Amino acid sequence: MMRNKKIIFIFILFIGVGWLFTPLYTVPIITYHAISTNFADTSLKVTLTTFYKQMEFIKNRGYKVISLSDYCQLLRRKEKLPNNLLVITFDDGYKDNLWAVNILKQFNFPATIFLISNKIDKENYLSSQDIEWFLNNTKVKIGSHTLTHSYLPHLDDASLIREIKDSKEILEKKFRVNVDTIAYPIGGFDHRVLKVAEECGYICGVTTNRVLFKNGNIYALKRIRISERDLGIRLWGKLSGFYSVFKRHRRQR
Ligand SMILES: [Zn+2]
Repeated sequence: MMRNKKIIFIFILFIGVGWLFTPLYTVPIITYHAISTNFADTSLKVTLTTFYKQMEFIKNRGYKVISLSDYCQLLRRKEKLPNNLLVITFDDGYKDNLWAVNILKQFNFPATIFLISNKIDKENYLSSQDIEWFLNNTKVKIGSHTLTHSYLPHLDDASLIREIKDSKEILEKKFRVNVDTIAYPIGGFDHRVLKVAEECGYICGVTTNRVLFKNGNIYALKRIRISERDLGIRLWGKLSGFYSVFKRHRRQR
């Protein structure tokens, strides 16, 4: 009898905790920067081997990986979201992202690479040919990471519009695709930045862990940076959908 009571108590506790935390759940949007073939010496690099293991984990755990654009469309339509969604993004458009693209292709996962439009075809960055290739042969899409990677809140109005609007137009014209998502360089944004992003026709925008607003602003969606150390339980925690809740006050690097 005692045992039954205990089971009922634990059951109610679980329901209670679930009920309390469910409204805090957000679809994990993960971020990578550079990919390395030998070692990862900074938190902005992940080795190819680890990247493969992380994708394998995502597949084995039954996540449904969708593109950022598709996720934002679902948010805008206020549709009920399945609880296994996950979004993959890359910032800066480094040449080494091509290795990751090949792995994404193997897993048939979509992703978004945020390009700095002035850096395309420059040393260490993706070339136009690379970008054409993955746009035509994989589920990887492109988004804007502005023209020059400037810290947007510090810009005057004209420069801000140029960074946000021109980068979109350049990418759309060059690659004949719709560019409807933006990642703010160094996660820097304020109300003015978000307003310009919306006026320039983006459907949503992503930041880093930095947060000015509570969840719900589609132009300031939080992301989770994945590092070389994120495997096993660490990765599980980061992808749980509750990680950002506990990272709310983390300072921007
Ligand atoms: Zn960047």
